[in-house]
Formats: sequence, structure tokens, C-alpha cells
Amino acid sequence: MSPSVPSHPSKTFRRALLALAPLALLLAAAAPPAASPDPANRADVVLRSAEAAPAPAVPKWAIAIHGGAGTMPKDIPESEKQAYLGSLSKALTLGRDVLARGGTSLDAVEAVVRFLEDDPLFNAGKGAVYTHEGTHELDAAIMDGRTLACGSVAALKTVKNPIALARLVMEKSPHVFLVGDGAEAFATAMKVERVDPHYFDTPKRWQQLQEALKKEKEQKDRDTVGAVALDQHGNLAAATSTGGLTNKRFGRLGDVPVIGAGTYANNRTCAVSATGIGEEFIKHTVSHDISALMEYSGLTLQQAADRVIHQKLKPGDGGVIGVAHDGSIALVFNSEGMYRGAADANGRFEVAIW
Ligand code: ASP
Repeated sequence: MSPSVPSHPSKTFRRALLALAPLALLLAAAAPPAASPDPANRADVVLRSAEAAPAPAVPKWAIAIHGGAGTMPKDIPESEKQAYLGSLSKALTLGRDVLARGGTSLDAVEAVVRFLEDDPLFNAGKGAVYTHEGTHELDAAIMDGRTLACGSVAALKTVKNPIALARLVMEKSPHVFLVGDGAEAFATAMKVERVDPHYFDTPKRWQQLQEALKKEKEQKDRDTVGAVALDQHGNLAAATSTGGLTNKRFGRLGDVPVIGAGTYANNRTCAVSATGIGEEFIKHTVSHDISALMEYSGLTLQQAADRVIHQKLKPGDGGVIGVAHDGSIALVFNSEGMYRGAADANGRFEVAIW
């Protein structure tokens, strides 16, 4: 007898096919659709029409910087004038490059202020003015207009770049304002660069202290530094750094580290950095007042800054730099001059003193 064979091989085959059917359905669902004959549904056509779309507008960014406001005789030696303008140009270039390549406004303002802190021409970091006791006490603040996060440090004695520590207060601590020994301890914890206090010494500032001691009063020796910026992501930031006033005593603090006085940023309105007689800028909460005039009264940045600097402050008190959320820039002062610079995505690039 021949070995038994299935009596109905075709039936077995059909059963196998039926068992595989769910798998076939699954595979069909996962497979890419066949190219559609309708050109509107085809991926390659969609790509081509996207390429043909109008080019996006030039990305918007803007930056303004300052190196202090005050009495600046126009007859200063040409070499001194060029030294200030040259340093401002370099600082502005640093900030411009960060923004032009799509970096953040926070990185731009920190880079500018760090650079100016390292330059002995300015009253911030190296080259800071002397206290009554012949020491240096440094203040700085930074603010993020996107979140209103901020960081301030004051009365620092050994931190090479106070603005870097201010940023760490903002980003790595639950606080917004650290002062004196506590701020120094935070600097140790954050491992920021420290220097011997004499690092900040310069003969020019020592001379200024001797003159102030003779007159027996505090003296405003301008040259505080600051930067404000709008980045391509629409975020504003402000940063300011100073040695304060020559011959200051009793732990005196100025407006620079006081958020809303010397430093403020809010994406809804503007970013502002101030320079001048700190006590006046604190009394009038200058930088927040400019923002509030924009937010509540609908003024432009220029109108708001003009109102506060020329109508609320006294002539000679100082000035502000500001950038608004729309990229407009204001450079306003009621003193003889203000070291300043401005640049934006439309090719503006300028530095000036008077
Ligand atoms: N505003 C600073 C202060 O009072 C000084 C300055 O701007 O030069 O500490």
C-alpha cells in the first residue's frame, strides 16, 4: 500500500492561507503607500514647492552696550578717545557675533560685560574704582527677559568676573541676590576664577581716590559697563557690572545689582542697563519704570527712556541703554556723554562717546 497522503491537499493549503491572512493584513498596513498618481500628494512635489516658497525674513536681533555715563570733556587726548572707541567696538563685535550666529541674548550680554570687566579702562572688574579704604568692592547683575530669572552679586572682593558669578546665582542657586562674604563663599562653591584683590588696582583709579579723599566726598568716575540684547529667538537680556563710586564707604551699594533700578529685562517690553548716580536710579527704579511705561502706557522704548531720563532724573545723573522686543534701540543720557555702542541685524554698527 502506498503511504497515506492527505485525501484533500487543496483543503490543507486553503487552511494554511487562512491562518496567514491576519499577518498579511498587518504587513499591508505597515507598507508605504504606493506612489500616488496625483502629483499634489507626492512627497517629491511637496518638497519642490517648499523650496520655491519665499525666503524667510532676515532674522531679527539687536544689541546695545555702554561703558558708563558722566562728565567727559571733549578735549581728552585723541589717543584716549581712540582707546575707548576701540574697546567698545571690540565688545560690540563680540556681542554682535553671538547674536548673528543665532546665540542667546544672555550669552551675548555676558560676553560683552566680561570683556569690558577685563579691560582696565572701565570701572568694572580690572580697573574698578577704590573704596574709601583703598580696596575694591564689585557689583553686577544679569536678567533673562524670557523668564524674569535674575542674578545679582554685590561687594565682591576676589571674583575676577562678577557678571559670571551673577549668572551662576541666576542659574545655579534658588536665590537672586548674594552679597559680600556669602557671595564669595558661593564663588568658591561654583569654582569661578578668583584673583588677589590687587589684581583690580590701576594707577588712574588710585589717583581718583586721592582726589576724592581731598574733597572729602564720594565721586562718580563713570565707566560702569552694561549690555542689553534681543536674540533671534525673540528673547531679551540685560547685564551690568561696576566698581561703584570712588571713595564709597559703609558697604554702599548702587543701582547696578538692584533689579529694576540699574538692570532689568522683560520679553513683554524691553531690556535696560543703566549708568550714573546709583542712588538716583534706585529712587526712581529707572529700568523697571521704562519697562512699565511701555507695558501700561503703550509708550515706545525711546519715549519711555526719554521720559524717565529727561523728566524724572536731574541733568547730569546719567543714562540708559535699552533694546525693545521689536528690536528698536534707545541710547539716552542727560550727562555730558555716555560711552556707548549699538548694532543690529540690519547692518547698524556704531560706537560713540558724546
Ligand atoms: N551706577 C553706578 C553706581 O552708582 C556707577 C556708574 O554707573 O558709574 O554704583
